[in-house]
Amino acid sequence: SPEGLVGESDNVKVAVRCRPLSKQENEQGFTSAVAIDEYNSTVSVINPLNHEEPPKTYTFDEVFGFTSNQITVYNKVARPIVENVLEGFNGTIFAYGQTGTGKTYTMSGEMDESDKRGIIPNTFVHIFDHISKCQQDKTFLVRVSYLEIYNEEIRDLLAKNQKQSLQIKERPGLGVFVKDLTMSTVLNADHMYNIMQYGSANRHVGATNMNEMSSRSHALFTVTIECSYGIGNDASIRKGKLHLVDLAGSERQSKTGATGERLKEAAKINLSLSTLGNVISALVDAKTSHIPYRNSKLTRLLQDSLGGNSKTLMIANIGPATYNYDETISTLRYANRAK
Ligand code: ADP
Ligand code: MG
Repeated sequence: SPEGLVGESDNVKVAVRCRPLSKQENEQGFTSAVAIDEYNSTVSVINPLNHEEPPKTYTFDEVFGFTSNQITVYNKVARPIVENVLEGFNGTIFAYGQTGTGKTYTMSGEMDESDKRGIIPNTFVHIFDHISKCQQDKTFLVRVSYLEIYNEEIRDLLAKNQKQSLQIKERPGLGVFVKDLTMSTVLNADHMYNIMQYGSANRHVGATNMNEMSSRSHALFTVTIECSYGIGNDASIRKGKLHLVDLAGSERQSKTGATGERLKEAAKINLSLSTLGNVISALVDAKTSHIPYRNSKLTRLLQDSLGGNSKTLMIANIGPATYNYDETISTLRYANRAK
C-alpha cells in the first residue's frame, strides 16, 4: 500500500502473478515482454512495438514470477487472510485478469497433482488442520456455498437444479444474503474438495476467439466458519466468512470479436469489474466515504467482506507474451489502482 495511508488500506493487499510462456507460445516463437523482480516486488513491461520506450515498472505488495509454485503463493498471501477468518473476521481473495493468464490455476489449480492445487483447496487443508489442533472445548461448524454470477444473474453451483436465478436479499441482523442458496456443511478437507469439484463442473463456459473455454462468469466460493466455545454465561460464538472469487476474464471486447448476446454479456462483465475496482480504490482512499457496493451483484455480495475489519487480497494474473502487451498493461493499471 502507498506510504502515508493508514487503517483500511492496510487490509487490502495486491499481488501480481505472471504465468510462464506456454508450450504453444514457445513453439510459435513468442518471447516475454515481462520482467519480474520478486525481491523488490516489481513488474516491468517492455513495449514490443517500441524498444526505445523505457519499460513501465509497477510495484505491488507481492510479486510472483514464472516459476512460483502454488504453496508459496498460498503461504505468502492467502494464509494470513485465512488465519484472520479463523479468528472470526471476514476475508476476500480474488483473481483478476485476462482469460488464459492463470486465474483458475491460481484459485483452484489442477486436480491431478497435489502440488498443483490452488488457493481454494489449500484453504481446506489449512482450516481443518487448524480445527484438529484446537482444544476440545471448541466446536466448529464449517459450511460452504458456491455460486456464479453470469449476466448479472446468480446461479447456485451446488444445487441439483440450477435453472432459476437467485435473488439477493438484505435483512437487519443478517445483512446481505442470497435467498435459497445451498449451504453445505462440510466434515473434512476431502469432503470440501469434492464439493468444490462438483460446483466447478457446473460453471458456465462459452467460446470466444481468445480462448475456447473462456470463462464469462464470476465464481464465488464462500466458506463460513463458526466456532463456539465456553459454557453457560461464558458461551460465545465466533463467525468468520471467506470469499474466494475467480473473476470473469477482464479482456476488452474489441479484441475478442464479440457480437450480439456475447457483447451484452461482455458489457455486464466490464461493468462489474469496474465497480469492483471502484469499490476497492474507494476503500483504500481514506478521503472517500461513499463506497459504491450497490452498483453490481458481485460487490453487493462481497459487501460484508470488503472494508472494515475484513482483509482483502487481489491477485492480478498476467501472461508474459509480447502479444498480450496491451492487456497486461491494463491489468497492471487496474491492480495498481487498488493498492
Ligand atoms: P484463466 O482462468 O485466467 O483463464 P487458466 O488458469 O485456465 O487461466 O490458465 C491457462 C493455462 O495456463 C492453463 O493451461 C494453466 O494450466 C496454465 N497456467 C496458468 N498459470 C500457470 C502457472 N503459474 N504455472 C504453470 N501453468 C500455468
Ligand atoms: Mg478460468
